[in-house]
Parts: sequence; C-alpha cells; structure tokens
Amino acid sequence: MTTVVQFTDETDGFDAVASVLTLARCGWRFIVVGTEANVGRITSQLIGAGVIEGEITVVVTEPPDIRAQRIRDVFCAHCHTVAEATVAVDGMVECPGCAAPLIVYHHYSRRQGAYLGFRADSEDMQ
Ligand SMILES: [Zn+2]
Repeated sequence: MTTVVQFTDETDGFDAVASVLTLARCGWRFIVVGTEANVGRITSQLIGAGVIEGEITVVVTEPPDIRAQRIRDVFCAHCHTVAEATVAVDGMVECPGCAAPLIVYHHYSRRQGAYLGFRADSEDMQ
C-alpha cells in the first residue's frame, strides 16, 4: 500500500504528515519530494516523530546549487531561532530572533532542517 500526501501550503502539509504518522508502522518508508526548504522541513518533522534517516528518501526538485539565492531555513547558533531566508550558502542574513548578522554556513542539520547560521564576528567578540 502506498499513501501519497500532497500539499502546496506548508501548514496543511505538516498537519497531513502528522496525520499519516499516526498510522505509521515499523517497515514504512518515506519519500519526500519538493523544494530544498520544504523537503528539509518535512524531513525534520519525520525525524522528530522518530523516523530514522534510513527510512527516508529525499528528492529535491531544484538543481543542487549552494550559490543560488533561494529559500533556505537558517538555524541561529546564538538564539536557536530557525527562520526562512532567501539566501545563498555563505550569504548573510539577519536573525529575526536576536538581530545578529549571520553567515549561512555549509553545515546542514537534517534534524533541524536548516543551515547553521553564526555571527561573522563571533571570534572577535569579548
Ligand atoms: Zn538569533
């Protein structure tokens, strides 16, 4: 049996995935298809619900390009806010949680579904 959960609105998607997860049994596999940001968010939700990474296959519909300005989620290392930004990896964003200017680092957390962001001047701070 295959269950397909299709959505375009992020909030509906989280609810739909949560509903399917109540039915999930050992042996289920998950295939997540979509943009990088949406795949990351759903994968994070699955991992948070206890699905192990070996049970998840991701298919990103955008070409892999860390230099592309696109929607990415960024985890602030200083206040732990995860926020959406249109940015390239190595780009700069302002954290909406603490207003710190963040460098979007290459490190990507599947658990958080976000790139690590940290202050560019954090080593100079006293
Ligand atoms: Zn912050």
